[in-house]
Amino acid sequence: LLIAIEGIDGAGKSTLARKLAGVLESAGAEVVLSKEPTNGPWGTRLRETAATGRLRPEEEVEYLLLDRQQHVEEIIRPALDRGQIVILDRYFPSMVAYQGAAGLPVEQMLHSNDFAPRPDLLLLLDLTPAQGLQRIRARGDVPNHFETAQNLERCREIFNQLELPGKTVIDASRGEAEVLGDAHAATVAALTR
Ligand code: C5P
Repeated sequence: LLIAIEGIDGAGKSTLARKLAGVLESAGAEVVLSKEPTNGPWGTRLRETAATGRLRPEEEVEYLLLDRQQHVEEIIRPALDRGQIVILDRYFPSMVAYQGAAGLPVEQMLHSNDFAPRPDLLLLLDLTPAQGLQRIRARGDVPNHFETAQNLERCREIFNQLELPGKTVIDASRGEAEVLGDAHAATVAALTR
């Protein structure tokens, strides 16, 4: 089972990924938790430049695709082949939303990700950019150049418009327990489908 957790910055993706993995592991499942951009060479360069905003969106797409190819080959496919549950903290929908918000064509980006296995479950954590930014500041982080309310609003719109199988929108303005409850219920439903 492949689960992708998506949403704008400050939506609570990393927290949910960790907690959902914990709940599923307690129930005896084997879980592989991973994220994009990865800590591989391409992902690391992207994260470094996310702080400074040096790259053009076309270059970001190039790096993100190289990063994802390696991620799919080395981590995602092998884990799925072993029958493990894979939970991803961001996946190709983030590229569609973020680089789409930067002006690149959404359809084309979806196509360039045809090589990437489709998630069985796409958990979209939805909240307003103002709430997301408030959480980023509350945890003591400084929002990067992607993280303006205007840009995140565009990302949110693209996330909400994306039509992908298994997409489940979760109201992420609520507390961690509520969000986890919904995500877990959706996972159990997907496992029994
Ligand atoms: O999820 P995380 O906060 O680690 O993402 C790192 C940064 O990279 C985020 O601030 C996000 O705005 C940016 N990003 C991006 N394009 C993507 C994925 C993430 O600009 N496709």
